[in-house]
Parts: sequence; C-alpha cells; structure tokens
Amino acid sequence: MKSSIKNRETSLFMWNRRIQIALNEQKAKDRYRQRQRCVTQDCTHSIRVDHQVYMNFSSNDYLGLAHHPKMIEAAELGAKRFGVGSGGSPHVTGYSEPLAMLEEKLANWLGYDAAIVYPSGFTANQAAIKLLIARNDVMIADRLSHASLLEAAMFSPGRLYRFKHNDIASLESYLEKGAELSEESGQLVITEGIFSMDGDHAPLDQIAKVTQKAEALLMVDDAHGIGICGEQGRGSCDHYGIKPDILVVTFGKAFGCSGAALLLSKEFAQYFVQFSKPLIYSTAIPPMQAAILLQAMEIIQSQEGDIRRQTLARNIAYFRAEMTKVLTTLSQKPQMNNMDESLSNISYQLPYLLESHSPIQPLVIGEDQAALDISANLRTKGIWVSAIRPPTVPPKTARLRMTITADHTVEMIDALVTALESAILENMDQVL
Ligand SMILES: *Cc1c(COP(=O)(O)O)cnc(C)c1O
Repeated sequence: MKSSIKNRETSLFMWNRRIQIALNEQKAKDRYRQRQRCVTQDCTHSIRVDHQVYMNFSSNDYLGLAHHPKMIEAAELGAKRFGVGSGGSPHVTGYSEPLAMLEEKLANWLGYDAAIVYPSGFTANQAAIKLLIARNDVMIADRLSHASLLEAAMFSPGRLYRFKHNDIASLESYLEKGAELSEESGQLVITEGIFSMDGDHAPLDQIAKVTQKAEALLMVDDAHGIGICGEQGRGSCDHYGIKPDILVVTFGKAFGCSGAALLLSKEFAQYFVQFSKPLIYSTAIPPMQAAILLQAMEIIQSQEGDIRRQTLARNIAYFRAEMTKVLTTLSQKPQMNNMDESLSNISYQLPYLLESHSPIQPLVIGEDQAALDISANLRTKGIWVSAIRPPTVPPKTARLRMTITADHTVEMIDALVTALESAILENMDQVL
C-alpha cells in the first residue's frame, strides 16, 4: 500500500517534469503558442479581440459565407426542425435526412459514387490513412502536407516517404523504389490541391499521371481549393481535370462552417462504412449543420458563387500587384540592402511574397521574432494578421500569412498594404 502511494508520486513527478521540459523548450525557442479570444462581428472582415476591433486578414472564410444571411437562416430553420444535436453515431441514429442528402449531393456534384461526412478535415484525413494503410504499404506524401496527413502517416504501420514539394522527379524516384515491393503492398500518393502555408497549387495533372503510371492510389486534400477554383467551385481537381481515388474536401474554409467529406468509389465507401472507426464511434454532425452545409453548397454552385469567386480573384490580384510595388520600392532603399549583416542578433532579410494565386498570401519575413514584431506592429494599426512560425513552416521562413477573402473591399486591401509597408520599415529600422 505504502509503496503504491510513493510510486504514484514518483510517477506524477515524472509526468510533470516531462511537461515542464517541453514547455520550457517551447518558450526558449520563442514558439510558445497562445490562443486569443476573438469574435467576428457581423462579417468576416471585422474581428474583435480583447475589446479591440481589427480588420481581419487571417480568416479562412474565403467566400464570406460564415455570416451570409442564407446560411444563418439555414441554421435557424435547421435548429427549429431538427434540434441542435444528431443524438448519435451515423450507425445508430445520427445519420439524419439532411446528412444523407448532403452526402448524396456532394457525390453528384464532384462526380464520385459516394461521399462520407466526418466531423472535421483532421479526422477525415486520419481516418482515410488509418483504414487504407497496412504494414507493407508505402505512402509518398508531399513534404509540405498538412499535419493531419503527416501525423497519420507517421503513426500508421506503413512506410512514409516525403517527396520534395511539388517536385515530380522526386515523386517518381520514390514511386520507382516502391515498384520493388511485393505484390501485396500498395502505394498511396498524398498531396494537396492548394498548400495551406504557401498557398501554391500542386501540379495535379502531372502528379495524377505519374501516380497512375506506377499503379499507385492518389489522395488529394483540397481543403483550400474546394469552393474556390474549378467549374462551379468544384475545386483544384476539377481545375486540373483529374479524379483522385480519394478526394478530401473540408467545410471550415470556403464553406464557412466546419466538417469534411471523403469522396470515394462505391467499393471504398462500403469499406469505410464497415470499418472506419472515427466514423462508427463518433457522433454524427448535427442535422442543423448538414442543413447549413447544403445551403453553402447551393451558394457555391450558383451564379452568386461565381460572383464571389470573381471578387475573390480580383482582390487577390489587387493585393499582389500593390504589395509587389511596395516591396520593389523597399528593395531600392539603401538601408534595406545587406540586411543580414546587421549587428543585431536578429538578422532581417527583405520580406518576399510567395508565388501564390490563392487566397493564402504569405509574406516571408525570415526570423521568428521579426515576424512576431511585424504582426504586433500591424495590430497597433488595427490590422489582424497572424505570424506563422516553425515548426508549422520550415526554419528561417517565419511569415505573415495573409488571407484575402471575397468579403474584403479594395479600401481594406489598400489599408493592409499601407500598414504592411510602414510596419516593415519600422521594424527594419530597429536593427540599423
Ligand atoms: C484546414 C485543413 C485541414 C483540417 O481541416 P479541419 O476541418 O479544420 O479539421 C486539413 N487539411 C488541410 C490542407 C487544411 O488546410
């Protein structure tokens, strides 16, 4: 008895020490993450954080649907008709009429036999990899794939290779390695439509071609492409004219809500319905949410969807043109040259805009602290842009990750660019 009490104390001590070490390391690396309490106000472009209102350039609500009157109406009607909870897993009583209809309409719209809805994109990605990959299988994933994909791949019993970002030769070299595998082993190529931290597209046509040639399966996570590109907003795969074996779409971005779906063939879908534990042992999304998502899909497919996508494309092009002008001007300032030779222990480089034509517009700053400083400076100017640091992005590429939405006006983008210019100047000056 006595010794078991002691053991428990020792063991608690061990856990606490382990946790303290991890937290201290995180702080020492300037990577300590903090959640901010915030609320969007009547629209996506305005956000209140700690009693202060900011212009929001960090939202994934690309089409501005989260506050759309029709979406809110769908939520109200849905709640009145179906209540607010699904009451169970889809295998018990959670497979509501609106949810079944959502799956059917998604499958039709995207040209698949079936869609299976999961509560989140993170879960959908994990579920797919977990169920498909067995011991001798190989996954070949783009290096910059989302954490939900890479984490699932690392924990799966199969082997994971990470090919160079968007590099077809690198992908092919891994596919060739896989060709030496036994007949019972499968290969799964994993990539994204639009990458979440760089905003660039994957060359899906070429990826599909080499994947098919190697007789491997293709899985594409189109979290940032669905609703944004392709005919009627069908996403990156439609844009590139391909149909991956597993398509993942999520509803937390252009759909303005949350949730996700896997688009599959009939056989695959049957397999998932029988064996996917995150589906079977998890509460189905509320019917009210399915009603909201049906409404989102309707808007995305409609002429209004086209207009919102056009506004979004115009806003993105405008931001890039204006920001490029500013960066060109900055690069001509003498104090902006040889930034790395500064005497400060923080080395600054001239920020640069990544080659992205999606709503995700990253401005790479370099050092973590510099990105944090510029982000804080923007806040004093009433603009909310989050700094993204390693390990989310590679070391020395800390960045400001702006997201441009259809909800922004030209005036707001002008305000962002002006604020960015002075924030960069004010922070670069510090070290000179
Ligand atoms: C946001 C995102 C996810 C996660 O989706 P959630 O529905 O937010 O869990 C998965 N993959 C990519 C590429 C994403 O950007």
